[in-house]
Amino acid sequence: MEFVDLKAQYRHIQARVDARMRAVLEHQRFILGPEVAELEERLASRVGSRHFVTCASGTDALLLALMALGVGRDEDGQPDEVITTPFTFFATGEMITLAGARPVFVDIEPVGYNIDPEKIEAAITPRTKAILPVSLYGQPAEMDAINAIGERHGLAVIEDAAQSFGALYRGGHSGNLSTIGCTSFFPSKPLGCYGDGGACCTNDDALAGAMRELRNHGQEGRYRHTRIGINGRLDTLQAAVLLAKLEVFDEELTARAEIANRYTALLQNAVRTPRVLADRTSVWAQYTIEVDDRSAVESALHGADIPSAVHYPVPLHLQAVYAPLAKEMSWGRGSFPVAERAAERVLSLPMHPYLTPAQIERVAEAVKVAVRGPVGAGAATLGR
Ligand SMILES: *Cc1c(COP(=O)(O)O)cnc(C)c1O
Repeated sequence: MEFVDLKAQYRHIQARVDARMRAVLEHQRFILGPEVAELEERLASRVGSRHFVTCASGTDALLLALMALGVGRDEDGQPDEVITTPFTFFATGEMITLAGARPVFVDIEPVGYNIDPEKIEAAITPRTKAILPVSLYGQPAEMDAINAIGERHGLAVIEDAAQSFGALYRGGHSGNLSTIGCTSFFPSKPLGCYGDGGACCTNDDALAGAMRELRNHGQEGRYRHTRIGINGRLDTLQAAVLLAKLEVFDEELTARAEIANRYTALLQNAVRTPRVLADRTSVWAQYTIEVDDRSAVESALHGADIPSAVHYPVPLHLQAVYAPLAKEMSWGRGSFPVAERAAERVLSLPMHPYLTPAQIERVAEAVKVAVRGPVGAGAATLGR
């Protein structure tokens, strides 16, 4: 069994992918070829945004968004501040730091594991330039409340939608819910290509123009450089793959939701199953449960040849590289207790649209056996 079975997907869409890739091999416009523009139009029309600017990865998407917004350092070299969650993939904090700014962590809420809007305002200072919520596991963060805070304080809001592209929130589309939305097309993401890829979504013409230039060495025209940018373009071949995958994306999202529901029906009396709030959908980038004794469950699953993963075991404020920042900010163990507790308890199960009912049952059964403990060992507690 695979954690994410990209071969099963390829077998399903092979004709489409092969035809799209062959077209690129014929025209040979590998850099910013016609498929890139076509993909950007399709993505923008899908979410109803004015602009979609593709780029080389989700990580670059975050960097381009921060650069376009001018987030970095002030004239005196002091770092701007960006409020974000400590419970995310490292790139979220990493790109804030790489841009020259400082990530200021705020704890998460325990239902969707996303940044807790109630705790954001207390973290705002005169140095704050942006709020960067992450829509973790595929479920959008509390974007209306976060945008309202952004508006009140004149702050940009960047949604890290790397895991949530395709999800809906109060009638809007994840990625198109704030100043800029950033997503990733890493192969195992719900919409993934066959290498690295990403994109930024915005309705602001000036920001879109800036990100288009920044991804291409800050060029406003060929060899006319008006900004310091990066080589952050999406390959035409990856755009071709994504165009093929977009054709089956909605049916895949339906399958993901059905699989998540099936897991939940089988597991809800045994472990803490994921919850999706009523006003939004999840694209189930991960199906993540909580268990008391995670290492025991992990090794039991491993013993049954079932892959699992932890997203993520170490919150950002406890990462080694942020030790000096944590010291300066007086962060330590206990500073963000909801995130820290989640980091110790979460476990992601195999999730992709091509899981069979038999596979789902096998995973659920193995989890149930694992949390029950060895028969006769007196482990009567449910893993809640
Ligand atoms: C995957 C991911 C990224 C980075 O995307 P890449 O395409 O791998 O660079 C950033 N943030 C989150 C939350 C992610 O899951």
